[in-house]
Amino acid sequence: MTQIAEPEMARPSASNDVVPHWIGGRRVPGTSGRRGPVFNPASGQIAREVDFASIAEVDAAVAAAKAAFPAWRATSLSKRTEIMFKIRNLVEAHRKELAAHLTAEHGKVPSDALGEIARGIENLEFATGIPNHMKGGFSEQVSSGIDVYQIRQPLGVAAGITPFNFPAMVPMWMFANAIACGNTFVLKPSEKDPSASLFIAELLAEAGVPDGVFNVVNGDKVAVDRILEHPDIAAVSFVGSTPIARYIYETGTKNGKRVQALGGAKNHMIVLPDADVEMAADAAVSAGYGSSGERCMAIATVVAVGAVADPLVEAIAKRLPKIKVGPGTDPEAEMGPLVTRVHRDKVASYLDIAVAQGATVVADGREHPLYGSSDGFFLGTSLIDNVAPGMDCYRDEIFGPVLTVTRVGTYDEALQLVNDNPYGNGTAIFTRDGGAARQYQFDVNVGMVGINVPVPVPVAFYSFGGWKASLFGDLHMYGPEGIQFYTRAKIVTSRWPDPGTSKVDLGFPRTR
Ligand code: NAD
Repeated sequence: MTQIAEPEMARPSASNDVVPHWIGGRRVPGTSGRRGPVFNPASGQIAREVDFASIAEVDAAVAAAKAAFPAWRATSLSKRTEIMFKIRNLVEAHRKELAAHLTAEHGKVPSDALGEIARGIENLEFATGIPNHMKGGFSEQVSSGIDVYQIRQPLGVAAGITPFNFPAMVPMWMFANAIACGNTFVLKPSEKDPSASLFIAELLAEAGVPDGVFNVVNGDKVAVDRILEHPDIAAVSFVGSTPIARYIYETGTKNGKRVQALGGAKNHMIVLPDADVEMAADAAVSAGYGSSGERCMAIATVVAVGAVADPLVEAIAKRLPKIKVGPGTDPEAEMGPLVTRVHRDKVASYLDIAVAQGATVVADGREHPLYGSSDGFFLGTSLIDNVAPGMDCYRDEIFGPVLTVTRVGTYDEALQLVNDNPYGNGTAIFTRDGGAARQYQFDVNVGMVGINVPVPVPVAFYSFGGWKASLFGDLHMYGPEGIQFYTRAKIVTSRWPDPGTSKVDLGFPRTR
């Protein structure tokens, strides 16, 4: 068995002026001469820059991962388990520093950042069960003196390409199972908030992950395209917007890779007439505006069925002025800025378009004082009522603190709306009628369903995945399907020499 050397204690460092790559167990400054700005969304200032990898730099990371693979896959399951426990404990111990990186570059408030990390830690915990998850099967005596068994083996070098909105959790969705299964990993995080990945890389090194098992290349399309075509990368996991997810899936599979590519969303929350209006309003506000609406599982559209519409819109509107918008450094802030000015302005632009297209703006986030007075990328909460399916604010994934309400007459109309939508990530139904909820769970063409639960992100021992344009590929992410994704089956048919029973037989092997 390969012994793993104790690494030097790598101190998780504060952010640098330029965020480098992490290759072969150390920080590697970029040499491409290309960099991008990393903003502090709360101040609107460029806080630092991030190196953009060249093809050669991606190749160096893949080479490090490839070189580390043979020893890592041969490392015992119990040693890998021990390391996963150490990673879990280090992330937990350093969660506040990690959360500070999320606040500084993404803008999310600490309660939200710590929630993201807690959900990421669930995936590390799931991966500590790797000896159990990788168990195969054994069939004794399938034929006379012959046994058959299945083992699961890692693929080799796996890559992950991640979005800006969960800079810690989504990488953990991927690398926890990938490396626990014995793969080595190359992460290409979002260029908008890359520091969390470097911080995590240092924690992994401290936990005893050997050099080269986990690598980070920062960058843009150049790095992504090299990952998609690199002959030594066996599998690509992607999370991001739908157009890029489709591109990643098509290009990666064309190049012979196993690909799972999770895309965007437009999550509907159906509220039936018998629902508890106050509970539904609390849920709609929490799920619509949490993380400034920049969650793939955010509720984007409330579908109010029948007479519930008026009291529900009123109850939602009543809650909005109480939401404290501010920088994540303000302990009272509940909702931070958006990730960039360009994105903030695009989100705000939907309000005027909605009015022009005949909707009713009940609350306008541009009226929040920070929208005009701060250099940060703030926008208050917006609520748009009387939204029809043809309108831009219904059709597009806005990905901001804008909640729309569509009024329908019946459950069937509500269901039709959800099933006609091209996205199928998450949905929720609010009702006191168990039969109606069960019918919805049966009928709806969406991958993750909440019953009186607005953000039904599965726990780590299930798997996460949408349907339709929200996921390209066959396997959902993390949990049991994550183990399947990062391993392949090998079936062994075995017979031990039994003198005297052997003979020549040119017929096709039969079991009877
Ligand atoms: P994005 O698609 O712009 O970027 C995601 C990743 O792809 C980043 O690493 C980025 O550098 C890279 N990328 C961007 N443009 C590229 C291009 N032209 N070619 C190659 N690579 C490219 O997404 P984002 O804005 O960072 O994240 C928000 C999106 O992610 C939303 O649509 C959201 O719904 C989605 N998302 C989905 C899930 C899910 O589980 N389904 C989870 C989180 C976020």
